[in-house]
Amino acid sequence: MGEQARTHRTHWINGKPWTGEASVRGDIYNPATGQVSGTVDYAGRAEVDAAVAAASAALPGWRETSLTRRAAVMFAFRELVRLRAADLAALITAEHGKVASDAAGEVARGLEVVDFACGIPHLLKGGYSENVSAGVDAYSIRQPVGVVAGITPFNFPAMVPMWMFPVALACGNTFVLKPSEKDPSASLLLAELLAEAGLPDGAFNVVHGGKTAVDALLEHPDVRALSFVGSTPIARYVYETGTAHGKRVQALGGAKNHMVVLPDADLDLAADAAVNAGFGSAGERCMAISVVVAVDPVGDELVGRISERVAGLQVGPGDDEGSQMGPLVTAAHRDKVASYLDSGVADGASLAVDGRGHRVTGGEPGGFWLGPSVLDHVTPGMRCYTDEIFGPVLSVVRAPSYAAALQVVNDNPYGNGTAIFTNDGGAARRFTHEVEVGMVGVNVPIPVPMAFYSFGGWKASLFGDTHVHGTEGVHFYTRGKAVTSRWLDPSHGGVNLGFPVNQ
Ligand code: NAD
Repeated sequence: MGEQARTHRTHWINGKPWTGEASVRGDIYNPATGQVSGTVDYAGRAEVDAAVAAASAALPGWRETSLTRRAAVMFAFRELVRLRAADLAALITAEHGKVASDAAGEVARGLEVVDFACGIPHLLKGGYSENVSAGVDAYSIRQPVGVVAGITPFNFPAMVPMWMFPVALACGNTFVLKPSEKDPSASLLLAELLAEAGLPDGAFNVVHGGKTAVDALLEHPDVRALSFVGSTPIARYVYETGTAHGKRVQALGGAKNHMVVLPDADLDLAADAAVNAGFGSAGERCMAISVVVAVDPVGDELVGRISERVAGLQVGPGDDEGSQMGPLVTAAHRDKVASYLDSGVADGASLAVDGRGHRVTGGEPGGFWLGPSVLDHVTPGMRCYTDEIFGPVLSVVRAPSYAAALQVVNDNPYGNGTAIFTNDGGAARRFTHEVEVGMVGVNVPIPVPMAFYSFGGWKASLFGDTHVHGTEGVHFYTRGKAVTSRWLDPSHGGVNLGFPVNQ
């Protein structure tokens, strides 16, 4: 690809592209070709300061904008995203590599949060109690936090930012987004559409880059709250650093999601689900199933059915309609994921399907390809089990009983998503009650909550108290205030210096 065809991406500050000269830039790759397709400016402290200053300047006006007007901007944004959904999806495929249907699905799931945010007048309603004491009324209100920041991962360059900013903006905050430097373009189209929808300049800003930009946001005194989604070590760092700087932080981390298959399950349904949830988006989903826990005696039969299906998957470029699985995001990530196949075998697992030999249909040889693989007889001590692989490798753990399977899931340090496959309602109910995981599916392999519920895991998958979007998102982006009010009438009882009590 010639220099001419390359795109160049820069920050979006105060309602327009940044016009400065960046001292650091990164390459953007097309994972299906392995070629550099563009460059992106990396923010230093000065650019982050400029974005936060723009958000601070926009805050008083946006915070005081009426609820109905803020909702109207969200409604307009919703229509614009729907109109441009195909363009957004194409940008995602070009930089992330995921197949077109997956990219379109990501946009659709992000839009559900915009739908939710359109209802903000209802969501911000407080409570009111008349006559809590004689002639005294009490009520509660929720107010925006201020300037808030979002730091997002490469694997959902549109949806994860949309978990955050629609709710934050609708609540009256202003926003600085730091998307993944690997696929920065979708966030810029979203910024343009917000401006077109009538959001005032400065209310939504985008800064690109890596650790320097993140650290500048974490330490900035004018950033009041910060939402993060990414890997567990960085989530922990962001949580600890952000809270040490006095910020409210929600930091969602990595995952190792287990799908328990009980002996009475429909094995064809379970095999289809394991393949869809294990290899969709090349396994680069925080809700991907990475471990199937097969309860005896279904292991051999289940692995056979999964392996048959995996062999038939079409791997190829995301913009080819026939492709079911695209490339991985970078060469380094592809190599790291592939290394778990060797380490798994060295640790005693058996390689039921080796994706390194999988045919790639229509792809260029330089693309970051790795076919789908299945590692069987994995045990919890193995490195392929303890690490989050985040790629198209499905591990199968054999368990002698329901209790043993549950223990495998609960002993894992992550707690993002899980699923159980069974036809026994009692067993499913017991599992949903006993499992220590934040999002649970019953015969549903990827139980991503709808926007009006909240998304988030337990244990090492989430640092902080609130999950994202839904009513927990509204809580995260607002502060509660309780007001007690008395309008004196001529019969009031005079001065009383005691502690207020209800009489
Ligand atoms: P990552 O942790 O490498 O990066 C996430 C963000 O942090 C990016 O914006 C990146 O620029 C920034 N970052 C990277 N290194 C940093 C550092 N040293 N200091 C400060 N900031 C840094 O994650 P990724 O590879 O982009 O995304 C994949 C990970 O995200 C997986 O672990 C996956 O499970 C997780 N994820 C979790 C969820 C969830 O909801 N829990 C959702 C999506 C992805």
